[in-house]
Amino acid sequence: MSGLSDLLTPITNSAYFQLGSKLLIVFYLVFSVALVFWTWRDAERRGAMPWFWALVALLFNVPGWAIYMVIRPPEYVEDAQERELEIRAREAELQRKGSVCPNCFKPIEADYLICPNCLKKLRRPCSNCARPIKTSWAVCPYCKTKQAAVEALTEEADLPVRRAPHSTSAPAAEPQS
Ligand SMILES: [Zn+2]
Ligand SMILES: [Zn+2]
Repeated sequence: MSGLSDLLTPITNSAYFQLGSKLLIVFYLVFSVALVFWTWRDAERRGAMPWFWALVALLFNVPGWAIYMVIRPPEYVEDAQERELEIRAREAELQRKGSVCPNCFKPIEADYLICPNCLKKLRRPCSNCARPIKTSWAVCPYCKTKQAAVEALTEEADLPVRRAPHSTSAPAAEPQS
């Protein structure tokens, strides 16, 4: 053991080693302050207890910071607010304009049979009067003609597929809008 310290003593006493270790300590201090500050600012922008996480980064350094990185909220508060506003604006536009393709949100006219943008089937012509009616409607609201059961309705999975159009007293599906 003494042999090893005899070997190391000239190295640890050298001016370069002293300077290097001092620089390392300074770097470590600056790095720690930067890490704590970064964690505090990032947690603040994500609305996640900035003081708590700055303290965690201060006490545990990089491991504390790593824990924060794992469980921090996925997005900034301002981004979430912006997204919320965007959704509301889109909804308002929907209400104002009336018709928008449910698939690609491009504006459509009420009598379109198919979306010209994404080719989603929107309506089908009534078998009697040929006016555009919703694919889910069992009866034409214009001429009261019963429509044949829709086979190609796979996209609208939330609607029960009516295979038997002769189901006795079941009321026709309400027009969904
Ligand atoms: Zn579309
Ligand atoms: Zn009709």
